[in-house]
Amino acid sequence: MAQSVTAQLDEVIAEASTDKAWEHMEWMSREVPTRISGWEPAKRHADYLTDELTSYGFAAHQDVFPGLVAYPRPGKLIITSAVEQVIEGYTFAHSISTPPEGLEGELLYVGAGGEADYEGKDARGKIVLAELSYSPPRPEKTRIATANGAIGLILINWGDDDNPSIPQGTVKPVWGNPTVDNIHMMPNLPAIGIARLQGVPIRELCKQGSVRATIVSDADRLWKTLHQPHARLGAGSEPHFLLLADHMDSWGGGATDNTSGNAVTLEVARVLANHKSELRRDIQVAFWQAHENGIMEGSTWFVDHYWDEIDRGMIGYINIDSSGMKYATQYEATLSPEFWTMHEESMQAALGYVTPPKRLEKTGDQSFFGVGVPAISGRMEFSKELLERWHGAILGPWYQSTDDTMDVADKDVLAQDIRISMAYAWTLATRPVLPYDFRHNARILREALEGYAAATDDTLGLDVTVELAKGFEAKAAGVYARANELQARFAAGESGGSLDDDAAALNDTMRTISRTVIPVLGSVVGRYGQDTYGLSALKRWIPSLALVSVLKDQDPLSGDHALWWGKLVRERNRVTDAVRELNELAAAAE
Ligand SMILES: [Zn+2]
Repeated sequence: MAQSVTAQLDEVIAEASTDKAWEHMEWMSREVPTRISGWEPAKRHADYLTDELTSYGFAAHQDVFPGLVAYPRPGKLIITSAVEQVIEGYTFAHSISTPPEGLEGELLYVGAGGEADYEGKDARGKIVLAELSYSPPRPEKTRIATANGAIGLILINWGDDDNPSIPQGTVKPVWGNPTVDNIHMMPNLPAIGIARLQGVPIRELCKQGSVRATIVSDADRLWKTLHQPHARLGAGSEPHFLLLADHMDSWGGGATDNTSGNAVTLEVARVLANHKSELRRDIQVAFWQAHENGIMEGSTWFVDHYWDEIDRGMIGYINIDSSGMKYATQYEATLSPEFWTMHEESMQAALGYVTPPKRLEKTGDQSFFGVGVPAISGRMEFSKELLERWHGAILGPWYQSTDDTMDVADKDVLAQDIRISMAYAWTLATRPVLPYDFRHNARILREALEGYAAATDDTLGLDVTVELAKGFEAKAAGVYARANELQARFAAGESGGSLDDDAAALNDTMRTISRTVIPVLGSVVGRYGQDTYGLSALKRWIPSLALVSVLKDQDPLSGDHALWWGKLVRERNRVTDAVRELNELAAAAE
């Protein structure tokens, strides 16, 4: 039986057509070359995706809602001291506009533009110059620049030092549409991107002495109507569903980011629909709007709007972004820890090799950390050598520029992305016992709490929480053993009656464990909110406790200590409650 499951997987993988996916990419690149959410081509793009899904047998519609989106235009950096020079750039989305003559100030180079990069520097009243990177990402660089009193932000593109591409993108830290509670966090300074070819000499000039410059930015920020495709395939014998979803909108050409992701999703959806009668769970597909010019507004709206359906029924989320990039050589995936074991099995089956699973970060449309749905985001990636040469351009030197055309896409690479995506989707849609393994989450939880306990002072007291985490770790091993035992009985050909009931009960409990453990491990704001994009604390597991070490340096009877203790002790209590609940859930499932 195990053999026939593998044979079935091989069959569906073979059925997914790279040629068909390539044709979708060509259509999108040709017919809707600019895909800015809220403007007309985005609607034609949405119609194309909706019509395709309908033709496969999905019930497809478009959700219509407002999004606060940006429409940026070219910007400029004018060096006014030393060598006089005008550098053409592009305004980042959600930057504010300067007056036409620009805003003048001294340039200050701050490296990657993270919190530590400002130590010993006075950025007040200055225009900061930083490197484009994901450490931290642009919106967090902007938040940090603003907090340090900068009046403008210039980012130098990544890639080779002679890379002439001008980067586009967004600097909005608010995740999803702003609300009355966080609209004050929208960017309040001008921010532009410039090419690396011209940025590197300016950076060197700054290192030699004071450089004065003028920044000119130009962008609108408007509420526009968004049309977001959403489709359901009612297939499963269980009232649960897997979500395949990825963003539609793009900057510049957007062939690999992200017509390729859309194409892979369409192909996986088509094959799953062909095998509808073999699926245990429903399939839902969504194509997110305002990922780029709004920052995750479509996926955030989806979570808020479909909250109850998601909370009760969603068993996993596969996000596909930037597939099929030329020169990519090796598949790498980031996943919620409960999927790490499944990743190794799926990757071996689909690609014949395994790369270690990596931590899923709250980046591109990972809007399900609060509600607690495990997710996967992976792609074919570049070699270490190439990335070093490109100064960390993980999405290629063409990233978010007009150079992201079909010329930088590769059919053979795309084929690999399709194979692995098909394998994940098939496993999650058909496996009787959900392929979750909480031993990973439990170990991470215990290790993080032990680390925080050692880093803080006696007044916080994490002993009870650590003991509970040890208890959950032991029970998670029991849950995994139980899942394997039931799955083995299915694999041996047994079915029906009490085995189905036992599997359904275990699946329900495991889903609830995910709902509880994911927000604790990966969010500060908790279940109902969305942390800002790239928030530095999110680099740590259990980020709500990331600052516990501040207590150690303060007099326990001081006001400063009391202010921090009051905040952190409540976070400790929230985490403790959740870990106690995890113990109870796991005890019921063992
Ligand atoms: Zn993307």
